[in-house]
Amino acid sequence: MELTNGKYTIQGIPVLDIVKEFEAPVYVYDFSKMEEQYKRLKNAFSGTKMRVLYACKALTNINVLRFFNHLGSGLDTVSIQEVMLGLKAGFAPENIVFTPNCVSFEEIKMAVEKGVRINIDNISILEQFGNEYGDSVPVCIRINPHILAGGNPKISTGHIDSKFGISIYQMRHVHRVVTSSGVRVEGVHMHTGSDILDMDVFLRGADILLQQAKDFEHLKTVDFGSGFKVPYKPGDGGTDIEALGKRLSGRMAEFNQETGKDVEIQFEPGKFLVSESGYFLVKTNVIKTTTATVFAGIDSGLNHLIRPMFYDAYHHIMNVSNPEGTERFYTVVGYVCETDTFAWDRKINEIREGDILAFLNAGAYAFSMASNYNSRFRPAEVGIINGEMHLLRKRETMDDLLRGQVEIKF
Ligand SMILES: *Cc1c(COP(=O)(O)O)cnc(C)c1O
Repeated sequence: MELTNGKYTIQGIPVLDIVKEFEAPVYVYDFSKMEEQYKRLKNAFSGTKMRVLYACKALTNINVLRFFNHLGSGLDTVSIQEVMLGLKAGFAPENIVFTPNCVSFEEIKMAVEKGVRINIDNISILEQFGNEYGDSVPVCIRINPHILAGGNPKISTGHIDSKFGISIYQMRHVHRVVTSSGVRVEGVHMHTGSDILDMDVFLRGADILLQQAKDFEHLKTVDFGSGFKVPYKPGDGGTDIEALGKRLSGRMAEFNQETGKDVEIQFEPGKFLVSESGYFLVKTNVIKTTTATVFAGIDSGLNHLIRPMFYDAYHHIMNVSNPEGTERFYTVVGYVCETDTFAWDRKINEIREGDILAFLNAGAYAFSMASNYNSRFRPAEVGIINGEMHLLRKRETMDDLLRGQVEIKF
């Protein structure tokens, strides 16, 4: 979003025109930003065999999946339904990785039938997998190196009591299962959770993973997961992808030389690829002044954007209708009958009833976590592609709220 001649625009389209066309609340995605992020990551590893798998749980609109397929990305999935969406979007099965946690063995078998690559994060499942398929279907195993690289404990997965991955302390057991069942391990994987701030910690985790990787004779890929941090506030820094590219590429060259292998590395970013491309546009219903604060009440709530209430996520908020208004303090709240606060005492250009506000970083874990709570419709999704607006998903209607419900006789 840019401010030119007193107007906010996305790829030259005035943001208020998007609202005029599709009404608020509406999710808007700038596809050029997705492409920029994808290319930035690819370029950071230009001398290394590296594959990007878009972690689609961040934003599953079929057009976003199709766009990443078109860019050459693979897909990281965590449910059989995401696998099916990926296939529907045109990804070749071998470019889809299924990384489930605590799903049934039946679901894993379904994914094998679809021909996608399987990532296993539990010794008991590894054993069942080996017994079922022997060495006929290769697997990757998800290892938990027990590092804490990020800031928010609610979205960290690498710590000692995390449910994700096979603990680094259980590797002897893993090798026993590999030997006895004959399962063919072609990859190792780690995903340490979101918001990596400390690159040294991340690289230490990568080193631990590589130590283990050496011991698998059929090794082809090492997957370093994701968790790249993106900027949220003006002036915020994100993970320094270019520096990471340099350091990890160097480390991989050493690894390949030491082991005589030629492994391909993988990343599976969600947030990094789509977070900043997204804007959530809402209308201000009311301004309510109390003795303590001034509330701006908007025509949306935690049903549409749950991140602030769910894990204290920060979303920057701009007043698109009044970019030059005097800055004042507001508590921005939703209309849901539940404490539903998007921002506390936030400095925003003066908000008047009817003003359109834009939430930034609304590409990842925003629409994909939206619900119908309070029997509200989920918003429309709009893509800005090559300077044009495209409707990607219609706003819901009463039919959507009632779909699947069976009215019985009383
Ligand atoms: C959620 C998830 C990701 C993506 O994480 P981001 O923080 O959005 O980049 C990657 N890999 C796995 C296995 C995940 O569960």
